[in-house]
Amino acid sequence: MSDDFFPVPEDWAKNALMDKAARAADYARSIDDADAYWLERAQRLDWITPPTRANESSFVEADFGVKWFADGVLNVSANCIDRHLATRGDQAAIIWEPDSPDAEPRRYSYAQVHEQVCRFANVLKAAGARKGDRITLYLPMIPEAAFALLACARIGAVHSVVFGGFSPEALAGRIIDCDSTLVVTADEGRRAGKAVPLKANVDAALKDCPSVKTVIVVQATGGAVTMAPGRDLWLHEEAAKLSPDCPPEPMNAEDPLFILYTSGSTGKPKGVLHTTGGYLLWASLTHELCFDYRPGDIYWCAADIGWVTGHSYIVYGPLANGATTLMYEGVPNYPTPARIWEVVDRHQVQTIFTAPTVLRALMKEGDEFVHATSRKSLRLLGTVGEPINPEAWRWYHSVVGEGRCPIIDTWWQTETGAAMIAPTPGATDLKPGSATLPMPGVVPQIVDSEGQVLDGATEGNLVIAQSWPGQMRTVWGDHDRFFQTYFTTFPGKYTTGDGARRDAEGYYWITGRVDDVINVSGHRMGTAEVESALVLHESVAEAAVVGFPHDIKGQGIYAYVTLNAHEEPTDELRKTLVKWVRTEIGPIATPDAIQFAPGLPKTRSGKIMRRILRKIAEGEVSAQALGDTSTLADPSVVDNLVANRQG
Ligand code: ATP
Ligand code: MG
Repeated sequence: MSDDFFPVPEDWAKNALMDKAARAADYARSIDDADAYWLERAQRLDWITPPTRANESSFVEADFGVKWFADGVLNVSANCIDRHLATRGDQAAIIWEPDSPDAEPRRYSYAQVHEQVCRFANVLKAAGARKGDRITLYLPMIPEAAFALLACARIGAVHSVVFGGFSPEALAGRIIDCDSTLVVTADEGRRAGKAVPLKANVDAALKDCPSVKTVIVVQATGGAVTMAPGRDLWLHEEAAKLSPDCPPEPMNAEDPLFILYTSGSTGKPKGVLHTTGGYLLWASLTHELCFDYRPGDIYWCAADIGWVTGHSYIVYGPLANGATTLMYEGVPNYPTPARIWEVVDRHQVQTIFTAPTVLRALMKEGDEFVHATSRKSLRLLGTVGEPINPEAWRWYHSVVGEGRCPIIDTWWQTETGAAMIAPTPGATDLKPGSATLPMPGVVPQIVDSEGQVLDGATEGNLVIAQSWPGQMRTVWGDHDRFFQTYFTTFPGKYTTGDGARRDAEGYYWITGRVDDVINVSGHRMGTAEVESALVLHESVAEAAVVGFPHDIKGQGIYAYVTLNAHEEPTDELRKTLVKWVRTEIGPIATPDAIQFAPGLPKTRSGKIMRRILRKIAEGEVSAQALGDTSTLADPSVVDNLVANRQG
């Protein structure tokens, strides 16, 4: 990949919360003196009963289980709100930027969030919700979504957020799987100027969900909805009747906090369960280490609350740290590709945290949209979700950040709760495309297909050798699936499903999902590497590479390429790109087929669904072969890909 190297900038080295030596010492202690380290780290939270035990997890079958701080008692919403009231009651906790740039932003102080969350919690209680009950949240990116999470946490109910872009069928499946009795939604959502009929989708979904007794509806747009008498309640009407105070429920550290279904890029969604103490500690600690949060900073994680990134880095991590977190209702390119940077200027944002898919989309529109804004307030630029192509990394660094903002590339998963491998801005020299080094307590290993641990500079399967506080605890309702999925491929270790390379300096480079590694004439190659080479070409906006059966090579390379705006898809360009990859990586990576694709099949969180691309490349194009496409953002792109298949 890239050999570029970006040392810690001088001002960061001097002023950061943690410098190189401090990070190295902290990491060493987290491994060598783990229990003492974690009990000390746990003191960053406010406990009703502080824990006396730290890690009691085991990855082997005989005593399998993940357990942290098991005798501690606390409440997550009290940690995110109440404990800040005395010192920062008037500080903004949440700043909300609406979809339309002409609408008014909203600001909620910690004191105001407290009142909103307490009233919301009292509404849930009045509707019969109790500790341990599951509550499904199907909401747009409005402040009430954050309030809803915290209200559930306050009363000890387990929330399951379903992304507002999912269909009624996907919603129903997730309600049934965790047996929710209550659903919280809004009349409508707003995205890119269009209304999303959330309440109508809930009505359709509930035809199949007899367990749901109550629907609480947030009035977000004022759009017309049908309210079912005896079932549906307006939040604002109920909240007005109830007290602005609700005592937080004492929760054991291992009581469930939430279920979140994974996005489904690799198959049937799993209900990932996170619990109270370890998760909150992990979200808050990594938020501080990765983003070097300082009082007064405006921090913006531009994810959706429907993804784990929204849970950990819009709500729980920042609020546990007393931060000001910005929530954005809309999409990055509405009304123009400058919007995201305009929002940065409008609210004087110091840290922005987004995804490679967003960066690639904005990059292809041209730099003038970025140049039209100031961005002087920016200090740090975060990324998560996929391997970031070095080309996109450099664009983010030089065009968006004008060379002065470290890039925080965080590798993690819904299952890991929060960041696992990531830089600390004052401590970590950066290499474009590498998520760098492990967070405290994280022991990554690279193993071969037999499970042999490989040392030094190497490449293979990324596993984690021991538990960390934010690890998922089970698959909801199917503990055996949890064990089978993550702990049997390489017994005694957590299997991430991702491939990785480790370089001579111990830096980790995620090469993509293990399923996406291709084997060409005996050479193993991460698809990410070929994609990055393609994206480096000036005509290419995005690329997705898969393997397909090849008589001679074993596997051949099939590349789907989306061109930049105004580029012509010609045979000439196809040849140029084949040559380009040969020079960039070597003849072994020569693509056997290049298909120009106006759009790629992506999940709602913007990740390319390679299993569909693999099927098309293999020539398996029946609906049955293509499998479940219900979590695709735009299922129609598949038809175009099938029609224009190469070879
Ligand atoms: P599913 O598990 O349902 O197929 P998913 O894996 O896309 O869905 P997430 O938990 O949101 O669901 O994503 C985690 C995955 O995203 C990681 O396993 C990895 O493949 C990829 N990923 C996340 N962040 C990074 C990063 N910084 N660099 C490289 N890959 C990343
Ligand atoms: Mg996954």
